[in-house]
Amino acid sequence: MALDEQIEQVANRLKTAQRMTVMTGAGVSVASGIPTFRGDEGFWKEVRPEQIATPQAFRKDPKFVWDWYDSRREKLKECSPNRGHEVLASWSNRFPDFTLITQNVDGLHELAGTKNVIRYHGSLWEVGCWEECPTSPHRWEDRTCPIPDHPPKCPYCGGLIRPGVVWFGEVIDPEVLVMSSQASRCDVFFTIGTSSLVYPAAGLVSDAKDHGAFTVEINTESTPSREVVDVSLVGKSENVLDQIELALSRSVSS
Ligand code: NAD
Ligand code: ZN
Repeated sequence: MALDEQIEQVANRLKTAQRMTVMTGAGVSVASGIPTFRGDEGFWKEVRPEQIATPQAFRKDPKFVWDWYDSRREKLKECSPNRGHEVLASWSNRFPDFTLITQNVDGLHELAGTKNVIRYHGSLWEVGCWEECPTSPHRWEDRTCPIPDHPPKCPYCGGLIRPGVVWFGEVIDPEVLVMSSQASRCDVFFTIGTSSLVYPAAGLVSDAKDHGAFTVEINTESTPSREVVDVSLVGKSENVLDQIELALSRSVSS
């Protein structure tokens, strides 16, 4: 089936959807100028993940890890949401029961005005106490950028603070897991711009399908989810989402 026919099919299904869940990955932010981890332009071409995004790396060299996160924050400050983020933000108002689960840590969905965002892997704009001192909250927002003195210190205990993202080998917040699993019981589930390799996030599309959801993938490349979903839309999320939105507004006004 041609892409425009597939898009009509998806838009038709959306007309009656009540409960919609969207899961996003790094691909949705590419058009905003933020590279993915695994693509040709990915971060991991410059630096190996085990050097940076693990508790062991932080324990070994917190300054090195903070230098990298600070430079990501500096680049991120210049980025704005793209058309894909905008369409998803408008869907968060259109559908009565909408949840967006994102693996991204860039905050662009929130900046676009999306309601009901579950951040699976935390946020680049949050920090936490490395020592988990009892007086500090688990995570708090800190947008200081650049950070003047690396590595930054905890205002509660004077120890180190860490970036508020989930690192390799760390567990996802149990509350986030429960909320995401509940959201996978929906009418329509989209998986967009994610390589579907990182579990448990990658398993949500199968859960949704097992519970009877109509499932759609949007990605520029083939991923393991392609075998699972009802419709696989091959293209850039910023373009494909724009086209779905157009088809949806046409069919709603006609
Ligand atoms: P990934 O790098 O593994 O996969 C990105 C996917 O996006 C690929 O399948 C690629 O084909 C697809 N893609 C690229 N450009 C696209 C576009 N314009 N439209 C649609 N799809 C496109 O990323 P992931 O699956 O999100 O998982 C890895 C981890 O990387 C996550 O934990 C996330 O925290 C982290 N990450 C986040 C950001 C961010 O916050 N923007 C950036 C890089 C990595
Ligand atoms: Zn502390």
